[in-house]
Amino acid sequence: MALKPCKICGRLYDSARGKYCPQCLQEIDELYPKVREYIRDQKGAEYSVDSLSEEMEIDILRVQALVDLGYLDRNTMGNAGALDEEQRKKEMLAQMLKKSLSATEKDRPQEEQKKHRTYGQEIYGTRKK
Ligand SMILES: [Zn+2]
Repeated sequence: MALKPCKICGRLYDSARGKYCPQCLQEIDELYPKVREYIRDQKGAEYSVDSLSEEMEIDILRVQALVDLGYLDRNTMGNAGALDEEQRKKEMLAQMLKKSLSATEKDRPQEEQKKHRTYGQEIYGTRKK
């Protein structure tokens, strides 16, 4: 059994059990849902280990530990929320488009078809010459 000082609190712990002491692991475990919620509420805003620690007033070592332990993916830091938001926007846009389409659907297709036919005939005509 190798005793090491915990990277977060400096207490000696059995390093065979992981990177941090059991107490800190417990705290990080409890911290995670809060951080995740905070990130979700940011709705695509940029964030980093530094900004999370600053804005949530959490020890930066604990935020770092969340990343280290795989609670927060380093790659998704900063864009996980953005992706969600992007998706939501796209869905909203699609719904709006659907609505506006069904509103003008009745007279639109005929016009569109006429236009296309004319365009096609023009191209066909020029090519033949
Ligand atoms: Zn600790």
